[in-house]
Amino acid sequence: MSEYLRLAGIRKNFGAFEALRDIGLSIGQGEFVCFLGPSGCGKTTLLRIIAGLETQTAGSIHQAERDISLMPPAQRDYGIVFQSYALFPNLTVADNVAYGLVNRKQSRADIANRVEELLRLVGLPGTGDKFPAQLSGGQQQRIALARALATKPGLLLLDEPLSALDALERVRLRQEIRSLQHKLGVTTIMVTHDQEEALSVADRIVVMNHGVIEQVGTPMQVYSEPASVFVADFIGKGNRLVAVAEGGGMLRCGHLRLPWPPSAGAEPSTGSSVTLYMRPEDRVVEGLQAGDPHQCVGTVRRVDFFGGYCFVDLRVEGLPDQPMNLQFSLIQMHDLGVHEGAQLRFALRADRLRAFPPKPAA
Ligand code: ATP
Repeated sequence: MSEYLRLAGIRKNFGAFEALRDIGLSIGQGEFVCFLGPSGCGKTTLLRIIAGLETQTAGSIHQAERDISLMPPAQRDYGIVFQSYALFPNLTVADNVAYGLVNRKQSRADIANRVEELLRLVGLPGTGDKFPAQLSGGQQQRIALARALATKPGLLLLDEPLSALDALERVRLRQEIRSLQHKLGVTTIMVTHDQEEALSVADRIVVMNHGVIEQVGTPMQVYSEPASVFVADFIGKGNRLVAVAEGGGMLRCGHLRLPWPPSAGAEPSTGSSVTLYMRPEDRVVEGLQAGDPHQCVGTVRRVDFFGGYCFVDLRVEGLPDQPMNLQFSLIQMHDLGVHEGAQLRFALRADRLRAFPPKPAA
C-alpha cells in the first residue's frame, strides 16, 4: 500500500497547554484509520490540523506527496463530515450536496446527475427536493456524507459522525460508511471515542492519550496485543492482576505460577512487580487436568447479563484481593450452572496474558 498521508513531528500548543506532542503517522492510500481515545486526548485537534482548520505549532503534513502543512483549507483535497451534520437548513438536500460542485463551474445538468448519483450512493435517491429539517438525524448525516464526497476528494475526514445518532442507527450507518469507503477506496480518517465503532470499521486504529499516540495497529493488534497499560485498560474489558517476577521466566500471582510472556520483552529482575492483563474470554473451563498450574476455583459474586453472553464476577481462592471478571455465552452459563454463589473451576489461558513490567523511573 503506498503512503497517502504523512504527519511528522506535529505539535500543538494552546497557550501553555500542550494538546499534541510530536505526532508522527503514515496513512496508506485507501486506508480507513480511526483516531480513538478518551475525551481531551487531542484526536479532534489532530483531525482539524489535517483539514487546515487549526494550525500546528510545529511539524509537517504531506498528502499525496504534496506539502500541505500551511495550505489554507480550501486548497486542500478533502471532504469532511462533522458530528452536528452542519447542513444548510435553508437549502434543499440537492443544493446542500451540490454545494462544493457549484463553485467548480460544472453545467447544471452535470451537477444534477452527480447529485442524484451521490444520493443513490448514500441510499437516499429522490430526496433532493426535501429540506434538512424533513429528514431524520441519520438521513441528514447521509446527506452530509454525500456532500463531503461530491468533489471526489482524496481524503475523507469524519469527526465523530455517529455520536448524535441513536444506537441502532449508529451501527447501521457505520456499516454503510465502511462499505461505501471500500467501494470508493477513498482514504478515510474517523475520529471517535467509541472503541466498538473503531474496532468494527477501521483498518488501523490510532490510540491516543494526553496528546500522544500510544499505539497504532489493526483492531486485532490493539485488542490482543495492547502496547501499554493505557491501551490494555482503554480497549475492551480486562482483568488487571498484580504479579511478582520470580526469576527463571516465571511469575507468581497468588497461588498461580505463570510464564513470563516472551512478547512482553526482557524479563524484569526477580522481585519486580508486574501488571498482568487477562481478557474475560481468555479462560478454559473444559478438559481441565488435575495439577494444571494455571487453574483457579472461584465463587460467583455477580452476573451481568448482556443478551447472548454474560460477564461473571468471581472471588478467586488464593487471590483474595484480585477479583476476576470472565465472559461466558448463555449456553455455557447454563451448561456450567453459573449463578450467584456457585463455584466455578477454570484455568487461565497463560499464552494470552499480557504483562507490563514497572516503568523505569524517569
Ligand atoms: P473530545 O472527544 O472531548 O472532543 P478530543 O480528544 O477530540 O476530545 P480535542 O478537542 O482535540 O480533544 O482537545 C484536546 C485538548 O486541547 C483538550 O484538553 C481541549 O480542552 C484543548 N483544546 C482544544 N481546542 C482548544 C482551544 N481552541 N483552546 C484551548 N484549548 C483547546
